[in-house]
Amino acid sequence: MTKAITKEKISPNKSSNPPTTANQPTVSQTNPANNNTKKSSTEKADEQKDTDTPTTQTAKISKTSTETEDTTMSSVANTHKTKQPLDYDIKHPSLISPLSSERIRIKSGFTRDSRRLKGDKHDYEYDVLVLGAGPAGEAAAMKLAKSGKKVAVIDPREQVGGNCTHVGTIPSKTLRQSVYNIINYRRDSLFSDHNYEQIPLNKILTKARSVIRHQVNTHNRFYERNQIDVVHGWASFVDKHTINVEMSDGSGNETVTFNKAIITVGSRPYRPDILDFNHPRVFDSDKILQMDYVAKKIIVYGAGVIGCEYASIFTGLGYKVDLINNKGQLLSYLDNEIGDALSHDFRQFGVLVRNNEEIDHLETHDDCVILHLKSGKKIKSDALLWCNGRSGNTDGLNLDAIGLKSNRRGQLKVDDTYCTEIDNIYAAGDVIGWPSLASAAYDQGRCAAAFMVGDKDAQPVSSVPTGIYTIPEISSIGKTEQELTEEKVPYEIGQAFFKHLARAQIIGERTGMLKILFHRETHKILGIHCYGNHASEIIHIGQAVMQCSGTLEYFINTTFNYPTMAEAYRVAALNGLNRVF
Ligand SMILES: Cc1cc2nc3c(=O)[nH]c(=O)nc-3n(C[C@H](O)[C@H](O)[C@H](O)COP(=O)(O)OP(=O)(O)OC[C@H]3O[C@@H](n4cnc5c(N)ncnc54)[C@H](O)[C@@H]3O)c2cc1C
Repeated sequence: MTKAITKEKISPNKSSNPPTTANQPTVSQTNPANNNTKKSSTEKADEQKDTDTPTTQTAKISKTSTETEDTTMSSVANTHKTKQPLDYDIKHPSLISPLSSERIRIKSGFTRDSRRLKGDKHDYEYDVLVLGAGPAGEAAAMKLAKSGKKVAVIDPREQVGGNCTHVGTIPSKTLRQSVYNIINYRRDSLFSDHNYEQIPLNKILTKARSVIRHQVNTHNRFYERNQIDVVHGWASFVDKHTINVEMSDGSGNETVTFNKAIITVGSRPYRPDILDFNHPRVFDSDKILQMDYVAKKIIVYGAGVIGCEYASIFTGLGYKVDLINNKGQLLSYLDNEIGDALSHDFRQFGVLVRNNEEIDHLETHDDCVILHLKSGKKIKSDALLWCNGRSGNTDGLNLDAIGLKSNRRGQLKVDDTYCTEIDNIYAAGDVIGWPSLASAAYDQGRCAAAFMVGDKDAQPVSSVPTGIYTIPEISSIGKTEQELTEEKVPYEIGQAFFKHLARAQIIGERTGMLKILFHRETHKILGIHCYGNHASEIIHIGQAVMQCSGTLEYFINTTFNYPTMAEAYRVAALNGLNRVF
């Protein structure tokens, strides 16, 4: 039976254009060159972590074949409707969006360029289905579309961008910037007479909502330009070549067939049973974006990247923060000196870091929460933000139907080509674990797609800079001093302190340092660690030099703009060279 795809855009006046033509694949493609060594990426590192007018190009899977006259996909077969309830039971987590409930819909479509699409020769509706429209899914879909594949992306959110855009990177980083601006305003002597009144987090998120709108519009355009169908619904496997989509508009279940699929469903905050997340004083990193009251104190439970970033945000807003760390040291995978600097500044700014502590239980009251720790301590606060762990979103995928299993964190194991144990199913992004960063998720998605289309130059993602948006920021790449010492590498250190840089003095960023670790004989750069604002930008200069196997001399023989923060590289290189004898 032929299944037709109608496309609709969502418009303010809800006008609708005729459905568009879906094309028949014409040119067969080679299969990906699979490397069959199954290596686990998930095993690498556990510790690391509404629109102006949204124009979502929506691929709506038709409910009956007579509803749509545009049925030119003559190659499409092997499809069927699921009118009966599913024989497996799936519960979905609720999706949180910081955006208001206002939605502007556009209904229209576009015509495919039939000559551009090649597609594989097979009997499925799509060459590749991408499950999840976050960074990993988007990058995979773009690469596949540009390689001539017929691609659809399935995501339950009304808008593309994934958790990254709606509840993760984008809102948290915009929030951080707003808080950073508030801190600077309060510090500025020009405004010292002005009283600063605390405002609810939800209000500070106004800027974030605007950024999310722009991001959604930008990403929509990418999908539109590359003629990728976006289906809004929850995907679950029926078999190795069929996906069930529980449509987000409540219209029921539909099935789509595919040759290959890539799972990029991301992750969500882990919610332990001992906490009542329906209580108005108990939050996770998704729910916190809805916090609409002012608090004086907050407990941040979990001192990983997200916990430390939110500790910075709350302390910047003037909250008293108790940061509960299960380990003996903050972010212990960082270079010790950088971790120590963060601990020091947290103390200075009023974050009380409690190391080696573990929750026993939480008492919730109308006016407070009391955290009972296994050590016997009790902490009373206005609210608790739980930042302890994330789970891969695999529980709703009915993986049993294809014989795939996730680990206890809901993550999938992939080999170096991002292929799972099932040869036509790939996975990338947070759902495979390491490093659980949007930056890497995007690259992993693109690489997985490259392997899928048999790109000979495809390389798995291996070197990812650390970017931690605390106040001040942290960023690093390469080896730490601890690692080099343990490996008995004869290294030397070059340091530059921001307080000595003209640019830092001008912009009032006197806290921070850049540290270059280099081989004392070859002067090869082994590691770069930066603490201070703009660290996440500064690091990329060193990363480029490292990538080109550069030496310390590059920074000495290169003229840097003056005054700049980048000048820190020259200062640190000269400092390091002075230590070599
Ligand atoms: C508070 C916070 C701050 C962060 N800050 C940063 C940062 O500063 N820098 C950085 O690089 N990273 C950051 N991250 C991490 C980053 O957000 C993630 O690494 C990134 O979003 C992962 O991208 P992804 O494509 O794998 O999945 P996601 O962005 O999680 O997207 C997955 C999509 O799949 C959808 N989905 C789920 N189940 C299904 C299903 N059954 N069918 C179809 N679709 C489904 C989801 O709805 C979602 O839209 C942060 C995360 C959090 C929580």
